[in-house]
Amino acid sequence: MAATQTDSPTTPMPQIDTCCPKCSGTMARGYSIDRTNGAILPTYWISGLPKTGFLGGLIGSSTSKHFPIAGFRCENCGYLELYARKEFKPK
Ligand SMILES: [Zn+2]
Repeated sequence: MAATQTDSPTTPMPQIDTCCPKCSGTMARGYSIDRTNGAILPTYWISGLPKTGFLGGLIGSSTSKHFPIAGFRCENCGYLELYARKEFKPK
């Protein structure tokens, strides 16, 4: 059975530590963006390996799992920690 875009982890949301593991600074939530054809979109984690299309750009697969990425950045040292979960879908 093929995976679909709506597949998601069944585990509950992990407790995200807001204390930086590198310097104990404060971690602030954010996200990264992708600028495509004039649009600003959030980035997604996609299962599998990247494939290129006719014009050399990456092409997606309808069977790939897609999860929006949220990041936490240390306000002191800049350390980043990323999570890819359905809960981070833009509202
Ligand atoms: Zn830090």
